[in-house]
Amino acid sequence: MTDDRVDLAITGAHFWREETPRDLFVRDGRFVPSPSGGTAAAANTIDAGGRLCVAGFLEPHIHLDKAQINDDVRPNRSGTLDEAIEIIWARKRAYTVEEITARAIRTIRTAVAHGVTRFRSHVDVDSIGGLRPLEGVVEARERTRDIADIQIVAFPQEGIFKDKGTDDLMWQAMEAGADLVGGMPFNENSPADSARHIALAFEIAKHHDADIDMHVDETDDPDAKTLEILAEQTMEHGWHGRVTAGHTCALAGYEEDYANRVIGLVRDAGIHMIVNPATNLILQGRGDA
Ligand SMILES: [Zn+2]
Repeated sequence: MTDDRVDLAITGAHFWREETPRDLFVRDGRFVPSPSGGTAAAANTIDAGGRLCVAGFLEPHIHLDKAQINDDVRPNRSGTLDEAIEIIWARKRAYTVEEITARAIRTIRTAVAHGVTRFRSHVDVDSIGGLRPLEGVVEARERTRDIADIQIVAFPQEGIFKDKGTDDLMWQAMEAGADLVGGMPFNENSPADSARHIALAFEIAKHHDADIDMHVDETDDPDAKTLEILAEQTMEHGWHGRVTAGHTCALAGYEEDYANRVIGLVRDAGIHMIVNPATNLILQGRGDA
């Protein structure tokens, strides 16, 4: 108990598995113990009316550079990821840093209003948009610093070796504000290039002491086997617990023996999985009978 005034009291907040609602007190943007004057010591009061009180939600996989472009692109007629990527190429050529920042801020504010306080955003790094998506989202992060914590992943959507110049851009992105090294290793011309793609990501990550978060095997094609390579390289480099694999849809198409082996490697490497059902329940499985 303290005698200090507080900035805000939130009364009647319902905590998970607790019978009696509680009052919460905030000073200088942080929760503090109840002042001796109780709610009377608060400059402002919000009555939570018994509503559930939880920690801020976390959005682990968003693309703030591509958010809210639906109104200015043509529809995705096949409903596939391939066509979605084709559509984005045209839109990406027209990107400006300012409009990316504006869309990203609008998206961040909407998510915050729904309780999300932490974001991990991929941003495209490629020869089409260059570093504009990164610059736009870095600026949005700066302008929303008071309400949101945002990590940025440098994401080579078009491949690294398939898209000439992207290897240099990936290094530059890490100097220009990206926190994590991204990847899309299946989007290369050969399994050997997929392995080089992952190897380069580790080289950059080790140079910057950064974590890795890749888009992995986002396809029904059971020949997409880059999750296995990612797990093996994670262990070789000792990056246990610092690597995330997103999507990993091809796992569902593997023969059971191979799937079990890959799942075992993923466990041994301590790889985090973010499977994005909201995206892949729509985009995948369209070729199935
Ligand atoms: Zn993604």
